[in-house]
Amino acid sequence: MSNKTSIVIVGGGFLAISVAKALDKRLSPSKHSLTMITETDYYRHLPAALRIFVTAEGDLDSKMYHPHDKIFGKGTQNGVGRVGTVQVGKVVSVEEESKEKGYVVLEDGQRIKWNVLLIATGSEWEGPLRWPNRLSLLKPHLDTWRERIASVKSIVLVGGGAVGTEVAGELADFAPQVKVSIVQRDTLVLNATYPDSFRRRVARGLEDRGVVILNGD
Ligand SMILES: Cc1cc2nc3c(=O)[nH]c(=O)nc-3n(C[C@H](O)[C@H](O)[C@H](O)COP(=O)(O)OP(=O)(O)OC[C@H]3O[C@@H](n4cnc5c(N)ncnc54)[C@H](O)[C@@H]3O)c2cc1C
Repeated sequence: MSNKTSIVIVGGGFLAISVAKALDKRLSPSKHSLTMITETDYYRHLPAALRIFVTAEGDLDSKMYHPHDKIFGKGTQNGVGRVGTVQVGKVVSVEEESKEKGYVVLEDGQRIKWNVLLIATGSEWEGPLRWPNRLSLLKPHLDTWRERIASVKSIVLVGGGAVGTEVAGELADFAPQVKVSIVQRDTLVLNATYPDSFRRRVARGLEDRGVVILNGD
């Protein structure tokens, strides 16, 4: 059995990839092994999700995901770097034998030893902004939602925060035939991090483009 220090990163999002890439450059291949285990077989640039489920215009899709095979650099293949490797799979439990040793258990029963463990599994949600775990399913997912949007007369967004307002703007720009309404509990869009003047300006910008905002409900 290898006596290298095993570093395991669970996750394949922005955080996991940034750490994996940085460690792959710095760690010693003779002393360390690094495994990034991710349920998704590609990197999802989530800020783009807000536009690309509404429209194919500008072909943003192809720029907003990256298969994991080259995450350790252009010259690398199949998700293998100097020290690091990428393994696609879902971690279902973590076993801890001590503070410095344990195993992660994958859905298929495989157990991978860790001496250092980073869990960077982000958060989960459902709906159009939830990109599938397999890159091969992304296009059908986007096509389904774009067709739905093209076929409806009105869309109600519950919540006027950053995501709600941005989606409303994308719909107003790229699906102008749809009547878009935002219903929100607060009396201004966004949240109190932003000055009221800015929140009013964002609301006005949306209303000028036909979005109906129902506050306080
Ligand atoms: C629609 C939308 C728009 C956004 N816009 C912005 C923006 O404009 N600016 C900004 O700064 N932030 C934005 N964010 C937030 C930003 O995307 C997140 O903060 C960021 O993705 C968090 O990165 P992460 O690596 O922690 O988690 P995530 O990106 O969620 O990645 C988690 C990873 O862990 C994997 N995983 C989960 N469970 C397991 C498991 N059991 N086993 C193996 N792998 C697992 C997932 O498959 C995924 O690859 C937006 C988010 C969304 C949803």
